[in-house]
Amino acid sequence: MKVLVVGAGVVGAAITHELARRGAAVTVVDMRAPAAGSTQAAAGVLAPWIEAHSGGLLELGEASLRRYDAFIAGVREASGAEIEYARSGTLEVALTAEQEDALRRDAARHAVRGIPHAWLDEAAVRAREPGVGPEARAGLLLTDQGYVRARDLTGALLLAAGRAGAVCQPGVRVREIVPTATGVSALTETGTFDADYAVLAAGSWSSDDAFRPVAATPVTPVRGQLLHLTASAPLAARVIWGTDCYLVPWRDGSLLVGATVEHVGFDERSTEAGVEGLRRAAAALLPASAAAALKEVRVGLRPGTPDHLPIIGASAASSRVVFATGHYRNGVLLAPLTAALVADLLLDGRAAPELRLANPARFGL
Ligand SMILES: Cc1cc2nc3c(=O)[nH]c(=O)nc-3n(C[C@H](O)[C@H](O)[C@H](O)COP(=O)(O)OP(=O)(O)OC[C@H]3O[C@@H](n4cnc5c(N)ncnc54)[C@H](O)[C@@H]3O)c2cc1C
Repeated sequence: MKVLVVGAGVVGAAITHELARRGAAVTVVDMRAPAAGSTQAAAGVLAPWIEAHSGGLLELGEASLRRYDAFIAGVREASGAEIEYARSGTLEVALTAEQEDALRRDAARHAVRGIPHAWLDEAAVRAREPGVGPEARAGLLLTDQGYVRARDLTGALLLAAGRAGAVCQPGVRVREIVPTATGVSALTETGTFDADYAVLAAGSWSSDDAFRPVAATPVTPVRGQLLHLTASAPLAARVIWGTDCYLVPWRDGSLLVGATVEHVGFDERSTEAGVEGLRRAAAALLPASAAAALKEVRVGLRPGTPDHLPIIGASAASSRVVFATGHYRNGVLLAPLTAALVADLLLDGRAAPELRLANPARFGL
């Protein structure tokens, strides 16, 4: 089976690897370099229980997190690449009485659902994370959550996919996708590409005119600015989450500070207000971050959907086109599950139960 994947972000790369590993002949194209869309800005936090408290997103996030250890082990083995990944937990920190009340309600919800967690008073927060600011008054530790370095993961996925026979073509923009009687034709600047199936993993650009012959997806860009700070040693032991920002410490002393949420169309520029706001919020949570050097401001366009759930599954207009887009704030978390769902559908004709939560039909697609 010949498959064209449009988009080499974390979602397209995961799908490419899964399909190639399972024997399909896959080509992935990207109008940019791989992982140069939303993925390059992603903090890589794997936090289904912070991102959602109920409903479809929680179900999808939990299902994908359950796959993560095996997913990373498989990519490490197949690529030979080291990928920084840790399930060291996340610590949500309350700086005000109001925030503490909200966290207590979250803790009660986690208790009902049996999610591993620990309530920490102020002393316990400081024992775990001595660097937290003076206003910290309580914390909620979710021990099973974690993070992965998203760009490195995407690179390793493509490396592994290449070893399994997939071809990656950067700098190739799909200008039109046309379903045919037996498959799909993709028109690019360098010619026409015919395949049995096309997987649309174009992130925020999935609503582009190029894909209109199949369907107009309701995916819209939601800008996020994220700071990459550097220090000589890690400033924290795990992901720290506050109401105004979150912090992701890497082993090399880097600290990611995320993120703004802005509806400004396809504008990928950073702003002074965005950077200053994040630096202020980071310093309130972790004062030592104020002295850390600013290495880079990363800006990404999260692929948003009206209900904040992804769109995964075959198009009603043509079963030869499969959507894998609209992952909004959780594309890194949801990549392993998305790849498995798409591969099961294409290679085994199996519609896994989770697909109903991401069904394109809810938007008439
Ligand atoms: C600041 C920030 C922080 C984030 N933090 C997290 C986090 O902690 N955890 C998490 O799970 N998620 C996080 N996200 C969300 C995550 O980045 C996205 O959900 C994820 O990257 C989406 O991946 P994707 O592959 O669908 O899209 P993208 O990474 O945007 O990739 C889509 C690709 O398609 C290509 N493309 C588009 N149109 C065409 C075309 N016509 N022809 C060829 N190529 C095309 C683009 O060039 C692009 O490379 C964050 C996002 C931002 C902005």
